[in-house]
Amino acid sequence: MPLFEFQCRKCGHQFEELLSAAEVEGGKVKCPACKSKRVEREFSAFATGSEGSGGSGGLAGGGGGCGSGGFT
Ligand SMILES: [Zn+2]
Repeated sequence: MPLFEFQCRKCGHQFEELLSAAEVEGGKVKCPACKSKRVEREFSAFATGSEGSGGSGGLAGGGGGCGSGGFT
């Protein structure tokens, strides 16, 4: 089963659950903190904005990318 990340819309608690897609789509996910079902799925791998945008890309680029500066 894949690991899904969720964030509760009610209390803002973030948590991870090992669930099948059917369980996720079926709305069987509950916030462990407040038991609310108003949770939304997070996609950490495709984080838009905040952090993560400079993760692997930044490392690869800094290592020896197309740095057009006289860095030697
Ligand atoms: Zn909650």
